Amino acid sequence: MIHIIGGGLAGCEAAWQAASLGVRVSLHEMRPVRPTAVHKTDQLAELVCSNSLRGDKLDNAVGLLKEEMRRLDSVVMHAADAHRVPAGAALAVDRERFSHAVTDAIRSHPLITVTREEITRIPDDPSMFPLIIATGPLTSESLSADIAALVGADHLYFYDAISPIVLAETIGMDKVFRASRWGRSIRGRESLRFSKAEDDSKNVMTPDPVEGDYLNCPMTKDEYDRFYEALAGAESATVHDFDKEKFFEGCLPIEVMAHRGRDTLRFGPMKPVGLVDPRTGRVPYAAVQLRQDNLAGDHFSLVGFQTQLKWGEQARVLALVPGLEHAEFVRFGMVHRNTYINGPTVLRETWQMKSRDDLFFAGQISGVEGYVESAASGLMAGRNAAALVRGDQPRVPPRTTAIGALAYYVSHADPRSYQPTNITFGIMTAPPERQGTRLGRAERKLAVSERALIDLERWNSSATFSTTSA
Ligand SMILES: Cc1cc2nc3c(=O)[nH]c(=O)nc-3n(C[C@H](O)[C@H](O)[C@H](O)COP(=O)(O)OP(=O)(O)OC[C@H]3O[C@@H](n4cnc5c(N)ncnc54)[C@H](O)[C@@H]3O)c2cc1C
Repeated sequence: MIHIIGGGLAGCEAAWQAASLGVRVSLHEMRPVRPTAVHKTDQLAELVCSNSLRGDKLDNAVGLLKEEMRRLDSVVMHAADAHRVPAGAALAVDRERFSHAVTDAIRSHPLITVTREEITRIPDDPSMFPLIIATGPLTSESLSADIAALVGADHLYFYDAISPIVLAETIGMDKVFRASRWGRSIRGRESLRFSKAEDDSKNVMTPDPVEGDYLNCPMTKDEYDRFYEALAGAESATVHDFDKEKFFEGCLPIEVMAHRGRDTLRFGPMKPVGLVDPRTGRVPYAAVQLRQDNLAGDHFSLVGFQTQLKWGEQARVLALVPGLEHAEFVRFGMVHRNTYINGPTVLRETWQMKSRDDLFFAGQISGVEGYVESAASGLMAGRNAAALVRGDQPRVPPRTTAIGALAYYVSHADPRSYQPTNITFGIMTAPPERQGTRLGRAERKLAVSERALIDLERWNSSATFSTTSA
């Protein structure tokens, strides 16, 4: 038997997969005995926010991941396909029917037992192993503390902070300039040329006709000082003790950075290096970068400007940024609970801990991001935990597949700057070369997907798993 803590997307998928391999499962879910701040029902696999499982085509990495999961008999995908609602190229679901369908599938499976209880500690009892921890971003506090003790307090993060988004038409375009840092446009061409200035200044560059990807709000020293003073004195929405609260270092709120020193922001999200204001030909004293946030291009987010200031304070302080004097906020910055481990430090590609074979992490807590990615990690953790019970070796799908690439990223990304990720083609192995032809962007994506599905099929059919009960 295996035990799973958490009956969310990852926990349910893990339970289904293990039971499908003939292994008994005991699933422990704390709701409704103990609610979370965001779940609203007592159903398993509740979608806490959007009802979209994102893109559903093979030219999209999450579309590929979903297709791979279908081919691996995913209960989450069965339920999603059965209860989809119109959403263009995306797969959106009727959230109630979806979670009811997963709940029914889990509860009616003869090999799965569901117990409604909070598990407050990582069990000592050896009969509780193999164990999968799939307690999600809102893992209850006592269990979080125990996980921190197990993985090391430095490797468990508790909060994510998100940046504000402004309406493009309210940005003062006469104050900002378009450029990518060092002229590196994601459109693939240089947007700036460096040139030696007549006065020998190192900072002078010549704008190229190709525009950059960011809108940059340049600041003089006086403007920066005014902004800094206002920020350092602004009021936070929640009283967080910055020494005690655990933010991911790469995602610190701007006010936390400001408290570390006057120039911290100038060496962080407001660093001006590689940005040249075409009106002056010089690098400004500081700069705030705005990045397009939606396809329509009418929303821009402030890069690296995650904050937990009170909303009124955000509006007041950010109005001191040139170009944002009259900005309208589509979303204010905020801090939300997101418990996750530093995957590359803690996990293997099999979703097992590096330090012990019989303990797995899956879902958002393992360091992935998103509904589909959470379920996908549960799928592999469930199969591999079942493999241990059956005396088989845990297996890892090839990195050419989306599900394999996700496992590789979580276990091998740079631990110093680790952040949970959605699946993207960028973390998958590059597409195969086709002799004599240069593939376009869309063709490359389809080639990656085509190869992934072939490799997955081959990998899956070579499985040593049999399906008798254990
Ligand atoms: C506010 C918020 C909004 C989000 N919105 C989206 C979105 O729109 N789209 C998207 O793709 N992703 C979103 N995510 C990210 C993520 O995809 C979801 O959180 C997803 O539900 C994660 O799946 P999971 O299985 O890891 O966790 P969950 O689905 O949260 O499941 C974990 C389960 O464990 C239970 N549990 C927790 N602690 C214990 C314990 N000690 N004992 C027993 N049971 C326990 C919980 O009750 C819960 O049912 C959001 C996350 C948050 C926090």
